[in-house]
Amino acid sequence: MNSPEDVLAQLRQLRAGDLPTHGGRTLAYVYDSGLSEVDSLGAAAHALASSANGLDPTAFPSLLRMENDLVAEASALLGDVTGVVGSVTSGGTESCLLAVLAARDAHPPAASPSIVLPTTAHAAFHKAAHLFGLRRIDVPVDPVTFRADPAAMAAAIDDSTVLVVASAPSYAHGVLDPVPEIAAAALERGVRMHVDACIGGWVLPYFARLGADVPPFDFRVPGVTSISVDLHKYAYCPKGTSVLLHASAELRRTHYFASAGWPGYTMLNTTIQSTRSGGPLAAAWAVVRHLGPDGYLTLASAAREATARIRSGIAELPGLRVLGDPVSTLIAFTGDDGFDLFTVADEMKARGWYVQPQFAFESSPVNLHLTVTAANHGSEKEFLTDLAASVDAARAAGPVTVDPAVAEFVAALDPATLTSEQFAGLLAAAGLASGTGLPDRMAPINALLATAPAPLRERLLLEFLGALYTPS
Ligand SMILES: *Cc1c(COP(=O)(O)O)cnc(C)c1O
Repeated sequence: MNSPEDVLAQLRQLRAGDLPTHGGRTLAYVYDSGLSEVDSLGAAAHALASSANGLDPTAFPSLLRMENDLVAEASALLGDVTGVVGSVTSGGTESCLLAVLAARDAHPPAASPSIVLPTTAHAAFHKAAHLFGLRRIDVPVDPVTFRADPAAMAAAIDDSTVLVVASAPSYAHGVLDPVPEIAAAALERGVRMHVDACIGGWVLPYFARLGADVPPFDFRVPGVTSISVDLHKYAYCPKGTSVLLHASAELRRTHYFASAGWPGYTMLNTTIQSTRSGGPLAAAWAVVRHLGPDGYLTLASAAREATARIRSGIAELPGLRVLGDPVSTLIAFTGDDGFDLFTVADEMKARGWYVQPQFAFESSPVNLHLTVTAANHGSEKEFLTDLAASVDAARAAGPVTVDPAVAEFVAALDPATLTSEQFAGLLAAAGLASGTGLPDRMAPINALLATAPAPLRERLLLEFLGALYTPS
């Protein structure tokens, strides 16, 4: 046996190779309140309930109570409208999946049911369409503001539509879709309308209280039938919790699942999981109870100030441009004078910051995405200084060129028939023999991926994922 101390020491050593989850230097994936007691409370609450099983709320009434409390909190925040019910899920994707499933199964079976999405909707809806056998009607957004086009969305609704989606805000650009107009169109056609507030739902209501002009997007908007909001984002809870709210219990019924058709217990599930750890739920309940509305208002104020400072600092840096008019805590910016943004990301990494590259898509040019949290408050200047230095370094380094032979190799690949041999050949050609791990600088790889059309990029990255998840 290995002693618990040794195993934990090993775990600590493994974790030391990860991006930091605290300190505000990782501007994607993690959400840091900057308050150490929030982290220790979440961890302690997680430990207290991690062995309890949300599979049976009558056996573990503590979990039932905590889930109802969290749904009530979310509902109070998102319109405080009577009749709203919901479920705590494992994350934003599961919330979006269940919203789609509920809509599909409430509808009389259409020959080929569809969902209407702005092209900026989170890929979680692509996954939902894929898993649940729905057609996706992707509606282009305004090419300048990146907001959904309500007239085009309305025109895309037809008899096969089971759900219309809008984002509050979108992940990629942080812009708010015109929810009232889209909801009105859905209502008129008698179709469900989901507002994906996974990333904005716990922060925009506080921004409004702080005086920001936040257009309506919650259950007070007629026609909105469900809303997703992630607790593991701006509620600053440990990973593993989101809330899916429905405007009524009637609307929720079809996302539940029951099976009495086997010899075991009658399986009754409110989410996609069946056995569910009580850990994330208890952690979220504890953090939300601890912070309360006052705590969240303070954190929202810090995140808002940090976002405003970083945004105006970016706007002042020559050659940089913020995309759209972000309303919350997300910023996407691009460069206008030819320097390589992937190199900027690498240069930021070398200076201890993680910023997230986003590939060009429709009118959205290649850009860098920032998820700003309360922990960024106070270090905006340092961030902007390092960003300016990184842009200078990228200018000095010049463009990243893709080896023409490699580009030719990639151009000839067919995503439908790509073999592991071809993939291995590509890795070798790109100087990435398998098993050598990721290089320090990602710009050459990103530049190569950027040359591949989206289906090929998906396929290449899936091959890469399979290679990563191979035990040595
Ligand atoms: C993060 C996010 C999701 C997906 O949430 P996960 O918790 O990563 O599964 C969905 N929609 C939006 C707008 C998001 O920002």
